[in-house]
Amino acid sequence: MTISIAMTQELSNELEAHLARADGQEDVVIATYVWSTGNTRRTAILGRAVMPAPGERKVHGNASFTGGYVVRAATEARERSEGIVLLHSHPDATGWQGLSGPDHNTESEYERVARSITGLPLVGMTLGTRGSSWSGRVWETSAEPTHAESVRVSGSTLRVTWNEDRRRAPRATEYQRRTVAAWGESIQRDIARLKVLVVGVGSVGLDIAARIAATGVEHLGVMDVDVVEELNLDRMIGATREDARERRLKTEVAARVARTAATATDFELQTHDVSITTPEGLAAALDYDVIFSCVDRPWPRAVLNSVAYADLIPVIDGGIAIDTLPDGRMRGATWKTHAIVPGRPCMQCNGQLRVNELTLDRAGLLDSPKYIRQSGIQPGTGAPNVAALAASVSAGMLATFVSLVAAPAGIGVPAPLRYALAVHQLEHLPATSGMFCTYEKGTALGDKRLSLVSNSCSPTSQRTDSRRGRLRRCARRLLAAFTGRLARLAERTG
Ligand SMILES: [Zn+2]
Repeated sequence: MTISIAMTQELSNELEAHLARADGQEDVVIATYVWSTGNTRRTAILGRAVMPAPGERKVHGNASFTGGYVVRAATEARERSEGIVLLHSHPDATGWQGLSGPDHNTESEYERVARSITGLPLVGMTLGTRGSSWSGRVWETSAEPTHAESVRVSGSTLRVTWNEDRRRAPRATEYQRRTVAAWGESIQRDIARLKVLVVGVGSVGLDIAARIAATGVEHLGVMDVDVVEELNLDRMIGATREDARERRLKTEVAARVARTAATATDFELQTHDVSITTPEGLAAALDYDVIFSCVDRPWPRAVLNSVAYADLIPVIDGGIAIDTLPDGRMRGATWKTHAIVPGRPCMQCNGQLRVNELTLDRAGLLDSPKYIRQSGIQPGTGAPNVAALAASVSAGMLATFVSLVAAPAGIGVPAPLRYALAVHQLEHLPATSGMFCTYEKGTALGDKRLSLVSNSCSPTSQRTDSRRGRLRRCARRLLAAFTGRLARLAERTG
């Protein structure tokens, strides 16, 4: 399992205000954490700072914790089933920090104390105060820590400090010259290393997957359970009539389109033929750094809404509604895009997710035409949509992604945006967080998050699938993986 560490921008600011001293000396502080467990990555999610009381630490060039401070913080953490993190600063240092001899000794010494009180391994972190770069490690034993791959700070921007030993910076390729010219090599290196997941690869998700691959991202995941049908072909650019005839999985088509568009030297694409509403789908999603939500149903949206806060993985969501007049003519269209990140209103608070629709979706009632007619609800599935406008949604979501990871002019993601087509007006929606919002209250809960997943899959997802179709797709995937490997081998040897 890869190890990663994450915290909110708010907590990062609080810890930094304490650790980066005006007098240039080192300082120390303790925080708590919980695990967020994916398939291949475990992330320590920092919860809150436990500030030192007078006399609980010594600041004298090399700052140190007192035993009393560590025991108090660990005892407080145990009450909430949390572990503890010992943090210290390296004044004026920048980038990923190694572990010096004295730092190693301190953390190794407190490893047993932390474990015996909290039952969880100790996490150690260092702040390089120049450029606010975090680094960290987990002490599974007192001999040697496991260094994390990255530390991400999630807020209106996503800032990731990478451990070059665990995840080397990819070199920009010749194909990416114009991209690098837009934001510089350093940002390109950081963006290329992000693991990006696109959930739902219909018209919008397919377009996003292709463009993220073209940007140079090395690890792209696509998740969907649906197959391509004839009625998708007027919007899924890159899907063929044969895809529809063969009822190929949308993930398979997205993989093909993204591979064609990819510019990274080592491009890895993972397909997840599961629903995000299952424990398996959720675990897969927790391995990623950024998620695009391109689903049109409330249940998957609710799961992603909780992941954005509980697991500190920024989620970029969007959607379109086309209104028609009773005589069938077009009245208008509205599309919305928003980043779901700590410090910004969640999908429920900004009106993109309604509690009653979520309940209906979980009960399987959004698939009952009779019920839908009676309730007057307009589910996204089956609603009118056109290729010419789907691109506006993906464009809005991709622009939000650029604000999140490249922060043009130092500004992060915008407030939720709504575009009204008839009058061509873009609005910044004045959405605020509800006082009792359960999603946002669940910030940094990790595996203790609101449980929204279940094994009963939504019926639409399996309806169109047959055993023969699944077998055929499996064989095709194996063949594609094999030929892909062959092609890469030929490229290297040639
Ligand atoms: Zn909310």
